[in-house]
Amino acid sequence: MSAVRLTAPRGVADVLPQAAGAWQRVEAVARDVFRRYGFAEIRTPMFEATELFLRSVGEDTDIVAKEMYTFVDRGGRSVTLRPEGTAGVVRAYLEHGMNAGPQPVKLCYVSAPMFRYDRPEAGRYRQFHQMGVEVLGAAAPAADAEVIAAAHALIASAGLPDASVRLNSVGDATCRPAYRERLRDHYRPHLEALCPDCRVRFDRNPLRLLDCKQPQCAPFIASAPTLADALCDACRAHLDEVQALLTAARIPFELDPGIVRGLDYYTRTVFEVVHPTLGALCGGGRYDGLVEELGGPPTPAVGFALGVERLILALGERGVEAPAQAPEVFVACAAEELRADAFRTAMAWREQGVAAEVDLLGRSFRAQMRHADRLGARFVAVVGRSEAERGTVTVRDMGAGTQEEVEAAGAVAYLRQRLASAGA
Ligand SMILES: [Zn+2]
Ligand SMILES: [Zn+2]
Repeated sequence: MSAVRLTAPRGVADVLPQAAGAWQRVEAVARDVFRRYGFAEIRTPMFEATELFLRSVGEDTDIVAKEMYTFVDRGGRSVTLRPEGTAGVVRAYLEHGMNAGPQPVKLCYVSAPMFRYDRPEAGRYRQFHQMGVEVLGAAAPAADAEVIAAAHALIASAGLPDASVRLNSVGDATCRPAYRERLRDHYRPHLEALCPDCRVRFDRNPLRLLDCKQPQCAPFIASAPTLADALCDACRAHLDEVQALLTAARIPFELDPGIVRGLDYYTRTVFEVVHPTLGALCGGGRYDGLVEELGGPPTPAVGFALGVERLILALGERGVEAPAQAPEVFVACAAEELRADAFRTAMAWREQGVAAEVDLLGRSFRAQMRHADRLGARFVAVVGRSEAERGTVTVRDMGAGTQEEVEAAGAVAYLRQRLASAGA
C-alpha cells in the first residue's frame, strides 16, 4: 500500500511558527485595545443552526447564496460553519438574557475562525479569522463613535497610524424606502445595460445596486442619487453627532457615500477604516433591526469586524516587523558529565521566566554552539568543568561576540539586565 501524502484542503492555510509572531502581535494589540475600550470577550461556537444565518445575513446575499459551508449533521439538523461573527454574538446575547441586564453590553472576539466557500486568492481563505466588537443596547451616536474609535485604534496601534475612517449613513426604516424608490427610478431606464446580478438586485434589493463591482454598472452608480441627500431629520442628526464626536476625539475621517456595506441589516452608520495605499482594512456599522429579526425585543446595536489575514498582510507590506520566537539563552554543556547540570540550569531559569533552550540531541559542544546560532539565541551560557568548580557560567553575547564569566546564582539577574539594555 503506497502512502499518499496528505495536504491541507484547498483555500486554507497553516500559520507556521515563523509567521506566528505576527499573529501573536496583532492579537496582543487587539486584546489591549479592547481592554482599554471596555469590551469583554465572548467565544461563540464555530457552527450554528443554518436558520440563524438565513435570518441575519440575508437569503439573497452572496454569502448565503454561494459561500456557506452548510451540511446536515447525523441528527438530521442543518448546520452552518459561521461565515461571520455578529449573528452568533446576537444569538448568544438573547439566549443568555444579556438583554435583560444593564445596557449596553459590549462584547469582543479575537482571531475567531470564520468559513466561506470563496474562490481562493491572495489573502483570501476559506477558513479565515476575524477580530471585532459589538455594542448591544445603545442607540446614541456615542456608541457608533466608540466602535469607530476602537477600530481605528486597533489598526493604528498595530502599526498603521496613517489609517483613517470613511463614514456614511444608509438611513433607516423612515427614509430608506423612499430612497429605494428614487434609486429604482434612476435605474429603470437603464435595465438593459446592467449586469445580470444587478437586474436581480433591482427587483429584490435595489440598495445593493450601489455595491456592484462590474465596470458596466459603474456609470450608473456614479450618477445615482446619494442616500446622504435622502436622510430623514433623525438620521441626519445622528450622522452629524457621530461626526462631532469623531472630530472631538481627533479621529481622522471623511464622508464617503460609496460605502454601503452588506446593507441587509445595517441601519444609519456604516464605516470602513482604510489605509492610503493598502485600502479598506475593516468595516462595520449599526444594525438596529437585527436583534428583533432574530426574535429579540427591538435593540439598537453597532459593531465592526476586521480580517486578521488581511491586516497581517498589510503590516508585512508596510515593513512592520514581528520577529519569530527565539530563545533568550541557550544553555550549552562543555563536557559530557555536565549534561544534567546544563539541563537543571535551563529548567531553573525557565522557572524564573527566562526563555532558555537546552540540547536534546546529545550534540557535541561545538554542534550545540552552531545550533544556538541557528535558533537565533541572544546569549549562550556555557556550563563547563572549571565554571562548575567556581560556581559560575560563561555567558556569551552571540550578537557582539563578547563573553563574561558570572556567578551562577546571579546569572538570571545578569541576563535580565543585558536583555533589557539591548531592548530585546
Ligand atoms: Zn452590476
Ligand atoms: Zn432616516
